[in-house]
Amino acid sequence: MTGPAKRHLLILGSTGSIGRQALEVLSAVRGCELVGLAAGSRADLLLEQAAAHHVRAVCLRDAKAAAETAARAPELAVHAGEAGVQELVSRAAADAAAAGLPLTVLNGIVGAAGLRATMAALDAGATLALANKESMVAGGPFVLDAARRSGSLILPVDSEHSALFQCIAAGGGRAALDELLLTGSGGPFRGFSAADLAGVTSEQALKHPNWSMGPKITIDSATLMNKGLEVIEAHYLFGVPYERITVVISPQSTVHSMARFADGAILAHLGVPDMRTPIGWALAYPERPALPMVKRLDLFKTELTFHKPDCETFRCLALAVEAGRKAAAAEFAVGTQGAAAAPRPRTVAAPIVLNAANEIAVEAFLDGRLAFLGIAEIVEKCLTWLGDEPVESLEDVYACDEEARRFAREAVGRPA
Ligand code: NAD
Ligand code: MG
Repeated sequence: MTGPAKRHLLILGSTGSIGRQALEVLSAVRGCELVGLAAGSRADLLLEQAAAHHVRAVCLRDAKAAAETAARAPELAVHAGEAGVQELVSRAAADAAAAGLPLTVLNGIVGAAGLRATMAALDAGATLALANKESMVAGGPFVLDAARRSGSLILPVDSEHSALFQCIAAGGGRAALDELLLTGSGGPFRGFSAADLAGVTSEQALKHPNWSMGPKITIDSATLMNKGLEVIEAHYLFGVPYERITVVISPQSTVHSMARFADGAILAHLGVPDMRTPIGWALAYPERPALPMVKRLDLFKTELTFHKPDCETFRCLALAVEAGRKAAAAEFAVGTQGAAAAPRPRTVAAPIVLNAANEIAVEAFLDGRLAFLGIAEIVEKCLTWLGDEPVESLEDVYACDEEARRFAREAVGRPA
């Protein structure tokens, strides 16, 4: 830590791509005291990280790994299982309050498994630095409701949303905002036809042209599901209707996203593709950290091109936008959007089902049990079966998530 502590920080998913990069930028963020780490099962790396950063509380989802860790490092407070993350967060919130400091929780867990952590951080009144987009996609209205109740700030870590947040603020806020222009590289299969995609392997799909990320999001980038999840994430984060969110393919990943305003001006956020910039921004907010480790963009060697996405070939993007619209229509029908004394949120299951089915399908593709194009097929089947289910509580969200996983596993087991 540099300088006196100004806030406490928890990093969830510390052994993953986001978590490891967060630990790299930490020394550049002034006044951030790391107080805890959580991971799935990689106990050795977690212990190494805890020792290097003098952290005294950790959590492992895997109960066996947690028990071994507790035996190996008796000086550490070791929490275990899904409930362990919630314990870690609420304990850290109590400690921060006792020290008179705010708490930031960086959620870098992958998948809807991150929803409990998102809710725990918001319920505890912590600032949420959100990389885990799946929790916003699955829990959207309930996540926003929890943030509203506790007054928590949600700072996006996803590079596009970090860019959008900054462009909207620089443009004077949402009053004069016309359109969000969400950029994406198009992934490793940009320009492929459905016939070309039929035989692609997980090795090919795991080779992203511009970003180095965890396996799940890398596959999502190849199917364009990642862009679809990001459209839904942007809708909830910025309260912008779907008809004013446009996906723009820009293969260089240099423009991280843009916002168009009522006077015709477009504000854009540019830089090299490096997640340490949006992570550092969220951790240092409202300051901007100096990050000398991030390469500078050479504008004289920069070419920018923009294309429409091919939603017919990359079905996942169209399915995601449709699921988001369906949920938004249901939310509007019961009057939760824009209501002054917001009633309890209500929605339909489409985005939850989309996300859960996608997680199962991606896992199957990575294991070689499903073809690349099968991912969209499984997602579409599950949406047809379950997408219209009403969702009126967080418990309903978890139940729909489980139900969709069951359906998706069954569908993967017996492809059409
Ligand atoms: P990853 O697979 O590299 O890492 C995931 C981390 O979460 C690991 O530390 C794993 O142990 C941990 N984890 C998994 N389940 C857990 C659980 N139930 N409890 C506690 N820890 C658990 O994934 P990643 O690429 O770092 O992505 C993390 C999240 O950030 C995803 O939601 C992804 O969409 C988002 N994101 C990632 C990037 C990137 O560049 N990697 C960019 C934008 C957004
Ligand atoms: Mg992104």
